[in-house]
Amino acid sequence: MSNGSLLAPADTIVGMARLRRQLECDIHLVPIVDERGCGYCLRFLAEAPDARDLSMTTRIEELERWLLANRSVPEELFYARIEALVGRRISPHELDDPDTLIQRAQRPGRTYDWDDW
Ligand SMILES: [Zn+2]
Repeated sequence: MSNGSLLAPADTIVGMARLRRQLECDIHLVPIVDERGCGYCLRFLAEAPDARDLSMTTRIEELERWLLANRSVPEELFYARIEALVGRRISPHELDDPDTLIQRAQRPGRTYDWDDW
């Protein structure tokens, strides 16, 4: 089992689609067999609670899970959920630095960090 699969840069969608065939979902430990991604993750997203109803702790835990796992769902669903959890729009660039994104999401209030990219 290779452990060298880092998140692909967000702008290499085609490359990712190919890469994803060899991946498994880090969350559910099942192979990701096609472009649709992990069936369990998709089902979770389809029924996911509104991020605004979650406690800060729950939101951050879920955010960490998405950011640190292999990409397991299509790009647009991934972005939509991350943005819901963070509570604002994000730039693809922010995904390169999950730690900072998680820290920002923990700030009280909804600050808009467009200044440093
Ligand atoms: Zn999954």
